[in-house]
This record gives sequence, structure tokens and C-alpha cells, in this order.
Amino acid sequence: MSLKDTRGNGKVVERMIRGIKNRSISHAYLLEGNSSIDKLALAENFVKAILCKEGEGDSCECCSSCNKLNHGNHEDVIYLAAEGNSIKDEAVEELQSRLKKKPYVGDRNIVILRDADTMTLRAQNRLLKTLEEPAPGTVLILLSDNMENLTQTILSRCVIFKLNPYETMDYKNPLERAILIADMVLDRKPFYEIARQLADDTTGKDAAFELLDALEIWYRDLAICEYDSHHQLICHTDKIDELKRRSRLYQRSAVDKAVAAIEEARNDLNRNLNISYTIKNMILKMIA
Ligand SMILES: [Zn+2]
Repeated sequence: MSLKDTRGNGKVVERMIRGIKNRSISHAYLLEGNSSIDKLALAENFVKAILCKEGEGDSCECCSSCNKLNHGNHEDVIYLAAEGNSIKDEAVEELQSRLKKKPYVGDRNIVILRDADTMTLRAQNRLLKTLEEPAPGTVLILLSDNMENLTQTILSRCVIFKLNPYETMDYKNPLERAILIADMVLDRKPFYEIARQLADDTTGKDAAFELLDALEIWYRDLAICEYDSHHQLICHTDKIDELKRRSRLYQRSAVDKAVAAIEEARNDLNRNLNISYTIKNMILKMIA
């Protein structure tokens, strides 16, 4: 996928595209945002746009570089992630010796460093040397759920892109809105924020029912996606990666609670209770 087709975080994407167009590509970036955001996909789209031979600030999706990246086998792109619970000193040391070599095909070595916030202090101190004196063309992209675990010296050497899970285009379709609401509940956002998001979505009874249906199907998919290995029961098979990523963050009881709250809300609407009251009541039960 190209940068401009990436869902959400439009402002960050714009900054990325502008940077590439202006040939002002930093040697270090930090993509910071909670675990519901697909930071890896965004980083890979960014890398593809940087390395693309044809595109103007974005990936063309057809040159050899784009093709390699889409197949996950670009020689100049190096991945590093936590082994066990952390990224250790030795892993960073290994990375540094790789970065001493020239790129194999292009003029950049690019590192996608996942779980950056799990780096041990020694690993961070070691990485600092690379951030301070990078070989020409080197780009490091750090992905982090919680940058508070990174030292100030690391942070000060990165261009920081803060990602927002809720800043995703306009929510025209019920599924997008349902995912947004479910994510806000999962992230334990305060009631008033969730209620404000919902206010526009539930102006009429039809819209409210539509949202309830979408929410229930989403939660149901979350509950079964771990077990439904052949994807025969899942409704949103096109969103299987998003479902799997999120389902790990849920306790089964939270999903059950949400589904029960949705069903109660549907009953209340059928009994002609006030729409706004019904929806707010549902949210309160979901976050309780
Ligand atoms: Zn390309």
C-alpha cells in the first residue's frame, strides 16, 4: 500500500510525503502510538516511499524496489524486534555491524526497529552511537508503544511522529465507526470522550441500530478470530490482521460484557427508550 492510501493519521502521512519530496529525510524517526495502531504497516509504507525509484514522495507500487518491499525481501531493509521481552545489547551490536556494510542494491540502509521501547538501557546507549554518527544514507525507524521507556538522548535524536488511533478520515461507514468506538473502550478512554464521538453517529434510530449491529459483529469477530483458523465464521475477513492484532489485547470477559451491553441497548431501542440515553447507558456498561 502506498502512503497516500494508508488509513488514518493523515497529517503524519502528509509530513512523510513532504519530507521525501523535499529530500529532507532524517536519519532517525520514532513512530509512537498505542498497540491498536498498525505502526509496522505505516513504517513499511514510509520506507517504500523513501526507496521508490519512480514515485514523487510516495511509492509507485510497481518498480523493483516497491515489489521487493511488498514481498518482504528488500536487501537494504533490516528488521529488528524484541526477542522475548526485550531488545538486547547484542542485537543492537549485530545491527551496527550490518550497518557498517554498504547497502546491497540502493544507496540507503533502512532499519525498522520494532518494540523500540523494550530496548534495555545498555541497548539504548549502544544505539545512541548509531544515532549520533549514522553512516550516510542510513535511516532508522523506531516503533514504540510507549516512548516514556526511551531515554531523552534517544528521543532528542529522532523525528517523532505521534500517531492517533482515532484520527482516521471521516467515519462514513458503520464498521469504521464501530471499530473506533471499540478501540476507545479498549483504551479506557473516559466516558465523555466516547459519548462525544457517538453523538453524531446516533442521531436517528436507524443510525443507532446500524451502529449496534456493526459493533456486535466486530466484537463477535474479535471473539472468534483466534479459533477460526480457516476464517469460515468471521464476517470481516478483509480485516483479519486488524482483528488478530486487537484480539490479543482483549480479555474474553470484556468482549462478552460488550456484547451483552449491545444486546441490552438493542432491546431498549425496540422498547422506544430515548436513543441518546440508551447509547450512553451501553457505553457505561462496556467500560464498567
Ligand atoms: Zn516504486
